[in-house]
Amino acid sequence: MGQPAPSTGRPTKTFGKGRVCKEPDCGTALSIYNKGKYCYLHEPIAVPRTRGRKKIA
Ligand SMILES: [Zn+2]
Repeated sequence: MGQPAPSTGRPTKTFGKGRVCKEPDCGTALSIYNKGKYCYLHEPIAVPRTRGRKKIA
């Protein structure tokens, strides 16, 4: 459920403000919720989308 972060209580895990994409010519500010070093455009995709096998329950 998309609740806004409460002003009190348990803080949402964040990864620091003022970070920018590691791609030299990018400079896009990273979201504090982005745990990576790159913006969404340059973030390396490590996990393949499909493995060629579907688990059918
Ligand atoms: Zn970038």
